[in-house]
Amino acid sequence: MKKGRIINIQKYCVHDGPGIRTTVFFKGCPLNCWWCHNPESQKFEKEMMYNHEKCTMCGECEKRCEGKGIKLTENIFYDPTKCVFCENCIDFCINNAREMIGKEYTISELMKEIKKDQMFYQESGGGVTLSGGEVMTQITFVEELVRRCKENGMHVAIDTCGYVPFYSFERILDNTDIFLYDIKLIDSKRHEKYTGKPNELILDNMKKLSEKGANIHLRIPLIEGINTDGENIEGIIKFASDLKISKVNLLPYHEIGSDKYKRLNMDYKKGGMVRPTDQRLEEIKAMFKESKFEVKIGG
Ligand code: SF4
Ligand code: SF4
Repeated sequence: MKKGRIINIQKYCVHDGPGIRTTVFFKGCPLNCWWCHNPESQKFEKEMMYNHEKCTMCGECEKRCEGKGIKLTENIFYDPTKCVFCENCIDFCINNAREMIGKEYTISELMKEIKKDQMFYQESGGGVTLSGGEVMTQITFVEELVRRCKENGMHVAIDTCGYVPFYSFERILDNTDIFLYDIKLIDSKRHEKYTGKPNELILDNMKKLSEKGANIHLRIPLIEGINTDGENIEGIIKFASDLKISKVNLLPYHEIGSDKYKRLNMDYKKGGMVRPTDQRLEEIKAMFKESKFEVKIGG
C-alpha cells in the first residue's frame, strides 16, 4: 500500500472543524499562494528546513553529510539536489538547527497516532481533519484513510483548495462529514496571479459537491491588498448564494509563517499584504450575514 507523506500531525486543534480534533497536514500543493503560512507543505518532495538562528557553525553536518551537499561558508550552503536523505545532519546537530520536512506513514501508523485521542473526539464532538498542502493530491492513501476513520466511528473533515479532478472528491464523498473548502478570489485571472492557477476547476468542483449534497464550510483567507475589495467579496457571495453552504469562515491573514520561508531558502512574496482591519472584517461579515449566511471571523 502506498504511504502518505505528512508534514505534521497536530493534536487538540479547535479551528479546523467542530470539537477537539487531530489535524494531519499532507505535503504537496498544486497552488502557490502568496500568503501561504505553510510553505513547507508546498513541494511534494521531502525537504530540509535549516534554522540559521540556532546554528553555531560547528561544522558537524558538513562532515557527516553523505551527499556532500553541505558547505560551511559564511552561511551554511546546502544543495538540495545532492541530499540523499541520510538525515545525519539532523541526528548529529546538537542545536536542532535542521529538520526534515515530509515523513512517510503507512495507514496503520497514521491510524495509531490518530486513535490516541479518540476519547477527546468523542467527548467534544470532534474528530480528524485532513489538511495540507493539498490533502487530495494523495487521494489513493486518503481514500483508504478516511474509510478507516469512519470504520472507527470518527468524524472526518477535509480541508481543501479544490484544485483536483472531481473524481478525487467522488472517491471520499461517502466517508467525509465536512469539506472545509477555500475560495480566495472569484476572478480567475486574479486567482492565477496570486496562486499560480486559474479557478474554474475549483469553482466547478464546489458546485458539483453542493449538487451531491456535501456539507460545505466555505473558508476565505482575507488579505488586505489582495482580496478584501468589494468586487471580490460580492462576487464570492453571488457565487456561493447558488450553492448549499452550511457555514462561512473568514480567516484574516497573519504573518506567522514568514520565518519558515527563510529556513527553506524560499522567497517570501510579501507584496504589501496585511491583515484587514477589524472594521473591514466586520463589514465583510455583515455582507455575508445580509445574504443569509452563517458567518464567523476565524476558523
Ligand atoms: S551541525 Fe547544526 S549547529 Fe553545526 S553547523 Fe550543522 S546545522 Fe549548524
Ligand atoms: S540528509 Fe544527509 S545528505 Fe541530506 S543534507 Fe543532511 S547530511 Fe546531507
